[in-house]
Amino acid sequence: MKKDHVDIPTPSSRFYKIECDDCNEQQVVYSHATTRVFCNQCGSPIATSSGSKARLAGRVQGAVDPVAEVPAGADPASK
Ligand SMILES: [Zn+2]
Repeated sequence: MKKDHVDIPTPSSRFYKIECDDCNEQQVVYSHATTRVFCNQCGSPIATSSGSKARLAGRVQGAVDPVAEVPAGADPASK
């Protein structure tokens, strides 16, 4: 039987904006970080590695689309 529609695989890993519990500093953390991530401001851990997906200690403010982080006018394909 022919498959009419096959979804393009999308990675389940994302970048999240995490707000530190202690000082409310916001930081972007990779969802599958393999090292511990500490707050830039107070140094408390906001994400710890758990084998696959990182355990996020702070408050998740939302996902960050890496594509949207490219500055306006920058064309990656022009290099
Ligand atoms: Zn902090």
